[in-house]
Amino acid sequence: MFSSKNIKEFLIEVANMYIEKEDELSELDAVIGDGDHGISMARGAKFAKSVIMDMSDYELISEYFKNYGRALIRSMGGAMGPLVGIIFTEFGKTCKEDKEFGAKQFAAGLQGSTFKVQDFGGARLGDKTMVDAMIPTTNAVQKAFADGKDFNEILKVASLTAKEAVQATIPLQAKMGRSKWLREKSIGHQDAGATSYYYLMNKFKEFASNL
Ligand code: ADP
Ligand code: MG
Repeated sequence: MFSSKNIKEFLIEVANMYIEKEDELSELDAVIGDGDHGISMARGAKFAKSVIMDMSDYELISEYFKNYGRALIRSMGGAMGPLVGIIFTEFGKTCKEDKEFGAKQFAAGLQGSTFKVQDFGGARLGDKTMVDAMIPTTNAVQKAFADGKDFNEILKVASLTAKEAVQATIPLQAKMGRSKWLREKSIGHQDAGATSYYYLMNKFKEFASNL
């Protein structure tokens, strides 16, 4: 279980991770996109981190997620800004007044964000986007939650499933965003947005295991 103070620390760690992975994520995007994914993620992370650090240690969990997501939307721009931001604002919506964040909130947050990203961005399974990591991860987490697995086990399932899902984007041909203009040349490369999503899932797992 994460307390609200843990969520504040977690979001700062998420931001630091994307700042650190700027070059790696841009390199992935350079192969089949325009090479700015890491730059956008790092820019958003820097601004969102400053917003979270300015908040007190005693806010509602939902407020941290909401402000983090809104800060990403404001600062990242492009097509991806709103979609990455939605992941966090949706977590905020599912937490409402909850004082703790555990398996229930995580499973509900993933479901909400996966639905909203598809609804807003229009990508479907197999289009070679972040959605290709989100859908299998959400499905695996729903199953693990229904099976009564504990929070740490569920986070392991999420990280592992997202990792496999990123590998599964390699043979796909891109149907969305800039990469779609490459047609079959997009085949054989891992998707940058799906990779970013895997890193978020892995950070959840790592953070929980260090508590
Ligand atoms: P841009 O395409 O504006 O340059 P980024 O480089 O930041 O944005 O992000 C590229 C990533 O965006 C892709 O690797 C892909 O995963 C993701 N993406 C593109 N379109 C969509 C969409 N409609 N829904 C979800 N993810 C998308
Ligand atoms: Mg790009």
